[in-house]
Amino acid sequence: MESNKDPMGAAILDYHRYGKASKLRVRSSQFEEDEIPVETLFRDWNEMSPLEKKAIELCQGKILDVGAGSGCHSLILHKRSKDVEAIDISPNAVTVMQERGLRAKLYDVFDPSFTGQYDTILLLMNGSGIIGKIERLENFFQRMRALLSPKGYILMDSSDLKYLYEEEDGSYLIDINDNYYGEIDYQMIYKSIKGASFDWLYIDFETLAYYAKSYGFQAELVHQGEHYDYLAKLSVVK
Ligand code: SAH
Repeated sequence: MESNKDPMGAAILDYHRYGKASKLRVRSSQFEEDEIPVETLFRDWNEMSPLEKKAIELCQGKILDVGAGSGCHSLILHKRSKDVEAIDISPNAVTVMQERGLRAKLYDVFDPSFTGQYDTILLLMNGSGIIGKIERLENFFQRMRALLSPKGYILMDSSDLKYLYEEEDGSYLIDINDNYYGEIDYQMIYKSIKGASFDWLYIDFETLAYYAKSYGFQAELVHQGEHYDYLAKLSVVK
């Protein structure tokens, strides 16, 4: 990604440099325009949800924070003397993480030239998002297999978007001939910087566990949040 096409990174950089940022707007063909409060990308331990705290506490050994953003989780782990590395596709985010004293690199997790052996791979803030679409799950699990140590596991959060389709009587109106209902497209805008549209996957736990199994992983539900969100632990089936 080029810096001039990196709206979230620009917002992260502004907030890091000046302690404030303009509006980070999020568009989607499926929803009304929304906004991400940039300060939430800099949340500290006290501002984290029980799900995130649980994830941080489960981190062990050599840790890789994927799509680390401002590095909020990595920073907590680093302060706790954990061995943590972070990657992100946003050049500005990587700059900010490096300035915050983290070992951060500019990489796309799907890029096979990124190599390593990690005991914990962390994907947070709807970490399944970077998978983009159901059809990319196979590629995702291949990449995870290549990056995990024999005893390693993935900690990833996601949400079941079915609540968006709930009818008044409590039933769900989901068109099964349509794409999977958690496949969302987004575009971010910050000041005059308009990012490219990208796919972002929200996946319910059952569907995740089903695909995990078919690609040789087992999924464990380790925490359930308050709003259809959950934390999964995924490991290679021996
Ligand atoms: N985990 C952070 C940031 C979440 S936002 C937090 O919880 O605050 C998602 C981040 O993932 C963004 O910074 C984005 O640039 C990054 N990202 C998206 N696709 C990626 C990919 N394929 N590989 C690595 N990082 C990616």
